[in-house]
Amino acid sequence: MDKEIVGQSYEPVAEIGEGAYGKVYKARDLNNGGRFVALKRVRVQTEEEGMPLSTIREVAVLRQLESFEHPNVVRLFDVCTVSRTDRETKLTLVFEHVDQDLTTYLEKAPDPGVPPETIKDMMYQLLQGLDFLHSHRVVHRDLKPQNILVTSGGQIKLADFGLARIYSFQMALTSVVVTLWYRAPEVLLQSSYATPVDLWSVGCIFAEMFRRRPLFQGKSDVDQLGKIFDVVGVPSLEDWPQNVGLPQTAFAPRPPKPIEDLVPDMDELGRSLLLQFLSFNPSRRISAYAALSHPYFLDLDSPSKNLYNQPFTSNKRSLEERTTEAFSRCGVSDRGSDSKTPQN
Ligand code: ADP
Ligand code: MG
Repeated sequence: MDKEIVGQSYEPVAEIGEGAYGKVYKARDLNNGGRFVALKRVRVQTEEEGMPLSTIREVAVLRQLESFEHPNVVRLFDVCTVSRTDRETKLTLVFEHVDQDLTTYLEKAPDPGVPPETIKDMMYQLLQGLDFLHSHRVVHRDLKPQNILVTSGGQIKLADFGLARIYSFQMALTSVVVTLWYRAPEVLLQSSYATPVDLWSVGCIFAEMFRRRPLFQGKSDVDQLGKIFDVVGVPSLEDWPQNVGLPQTAFAPRPPKPIEDLVPDMDELGRSLLLQFLSFNPSRRISAYAALSHPYFLDLDSPSKNLYNQPFTSNKRSLEERTTEAFSRCGVSDRGSDSKTPQN
C-alpha cells in the first residue's frame, strides 16, 4: 500500500546521485503541480517491533528542524515508509529539488573562477545554515561540496545531514569509498565528533572555492593527516588528543606552510578566517556563530545578510510529540498500536 502511495505521488525522472547509502532520484511531485523533488531511498534495519527507535528519533529531529524552514537548509517535504520486511524497511525522504551541488557549481564556473564576492556570500550562507544545525545540536559530520546544494539564484542549502546512525548501519553494506578530504584531524584520529568537526570541513571548502581543487587529497586516514600536517605543521604534544591510536611521534616534524601559497587569490581577512577554521585543536577552532561576525564579512553587501537575521530559536515541543508525528504525512505508524513512546 505504501508503495502505491509513493508510486501515485511521485514520478521518477532521472537518477541524480548514488552515494554510499542509497540512490537519489529527481522526480515529479504529481500532487503538487508537478514540481521537481529529490527522492532519497534509504534502507533501515528492521527490528522485532519495527523500525529502530534511533531511526524514528532521527527522522523526528529532521522534521523538527524542517519546521523552522531555514533558508540555508534543504526543504524536507515528506518521509514515507515504502516497504517493510522482517529484515529491513525502505524509507523515502522527499526533498525539494535543487539544480546543482557545489562540486558541479565549481566545475562549471568559467575562468578565472568564482568571483571573491560570490564566495563571501556563499560562505556566509553556509555558516548560517551550519550555525542553525549546531544550535539544534545537530552535527553534520560529512560536510563537503557534494552535500552542499546551490540554487540557480546562488542560494546555499545544506543537505545530507541528520541520519548519521541510520548511515552507520548502511556503511557495512557498501563498498563505496567515503571521501576523507574534508575530515577534521580529530575524526581521522577517532578522538571526538562534536560541532567543530564541521568547521574544519568549512575551512577545506573555503580554500577549495578559491583554488577550484581540494585542499587536502589524502588516500587513507594516515595519508590525510600527513597532508594536513604538511600545511599546518605537526601539532604540539599538548594539542595531541589523549587516548588515540596514533602517537604524535608517528609524524616527522615539519614547519607549517605559508597560507598565501595555498590560496594566493584570497585576501588577508579571508586568510585569517581560514586559519581559524584550520586550527588542529578543536577547542580553539572558530565556531559557525563566531565566524559570522568575523571582519571578513564586514563588507558583505548581500540580501543573504538581512534575510537570515531572524532568530531560529528552538520551540518547546517534546521529543514525544515530534516522534509520533515523524511519519504522519504518509499515514505510517510503524511501531503498531502498542508502540512505546520514547523517553527522553
Ligand atoms: P548520499 O548519502 O548518497 O551522499 P546525498 O543526500 O548527499 O546522499 O545525495 C547524493 C547526491 O545527490 C548529492 O551529492 C547531490 O549531488 C544530489 N542531491 C541530493 N539531494 C539533492 C536535492 N535535494 N536536489 C538535487 N540534488 C540532490
Ligand atoms: Mg552526500
